[in-house]
Amino acid sequence: MSVNYDAYLSETAKQIQPSGIRKFFDLASSMKGVISLGVGEPDFITPWSVRETTIASLEGGYTSYTANAGLLELRTEIAAYLKNNFRISYDPNDQIIVTVGASQALDLAFRALLNQGDEVLIVEPAFVSYSSLVSLAGGNPIPLSTNAENGFKVTPEQIEAAITDNTKAILLCSPNNPTGTYLNRDELSEIARVVQKHDLIVVSDEIYAELTYDEDYTSITSLEGMYDRTILINGFSKGFAMTGWRLGFVAAPKELTHVMLKIHQFTTMCAPHMLQHGAIDALQNRETIVEHMKNSYRRRRNYIVQSLNNIGLDCHTPGGAFYVFPSIKKTGLTSEQFAEQLLLQEKVAVVPGNVFGESGEGYVRCSYATSLEQLQEAMKRIQRFIDSLE
Ligand code: PMP
Repeated sequence: MSVNYDAYLSETAKQIQPSGIRKFFDLASSMKGVISLGVGEPDFITPWSVRETTIASLEGGYTSYTANAGLLELRTEIAAYLKNNFRISYDPNDQIIVTVGASQALDLAFRALLNQGDEVLIVEPAFVSYSSLVSLAGGNPIPLSTNAENGFKVTPEQIEAAITDNTKAILLCSPNNPTGTYLNRDELSEIARVVQKHDLIVVSDEIYAELTYDEDYTSITSLEGMYDRTILINGFSKGFAMTGWRLGFVAAPKELTHVMLKIHQFTTMCAPHMLQHGAIDALQNRETIVEHMKNSYRRRRNYIVQSLNNIGLDCHTPGGAFYVFPSIKKTGLTSEQFAEQLLLQEKVAVVPGNVFGESGEGYVRCSYATSLEQLQEAMKRIQRFIDSLE
């Protein structure tokens, strides 16, 4: 007799949709000669000093568990990093948790905050995980749509109009995935005003904080009145080219980290010991590690924005991250049709914008975390594809 698994599975888990990005990339990876502007990760290998320190850690036999919150030495480095670069003070003893990527930090934040039916405002287009993580924690994700005309920036009025008695938090991600939009101090201050007026918590995903190209990064946490109501999330994946290490962190008022630590302790125990030694090295050598990658991304951003606009795909200049989000509306294709036809015809992989929320329809995400030569070839192919539509 076969088992009716459907009857056993959690209703919430069944509702979760698989990531639209992965689905598309299974198709791309089955083809030869594809230039991928699809994946959201650096094309750099983790700097050698970080790898070397980790090898030494393994050789030294550091293979045990660490404290649940992570090595105190690493938390102390994280506190110094946040203080020196973003002017925010956290106590490494009870305000910082080292997590398995920013992904786990987001999960901890939502699980710690949400009761059944609590609403979390999510500025869209948005990173694919947020709404599923909110749902898995029992909450309701409420999308706030943005578009190219307003630079994909949410307005205080929009936030205010979406607030209900059930609204508990707002998720902000600056610089944003997939649009690259960076919110400056003035824009964040406007949002902070509404957040304080309505007593919300901000979950601030700052994973791309190292990658801002036109001005220094401002964390909303550093604005007046925001420290006590912000959960700051960051990690090593993007700025330090360490996606496969799965290391991130969360910093917050200790009343919140205390609860997140309980969840972390029972679900994860701790992040891997020897990799935490590598992360200490990354932070100690931050300036040399981050700077040359950032300069390279900046050059590529300038190139790709100009090229796409020349091709006729309107593209705003994003302030950070390594994505551009050009409009493909002029082609008359949906974003899925565009991405699929471009892949099949010219072997260039981009991500259809609709996977990042309804307001992403009419756009595609192109990652420029790939070599300039590859980008140049991709632009030639996209030009040919657009010509073939006419
Ligand atoms: N937040 C955003 C906005 C991201 O783009 C990503 C990775 N694509 C993450 C979080 C997850 O990062 P990590 O590798 O640290 O889990």
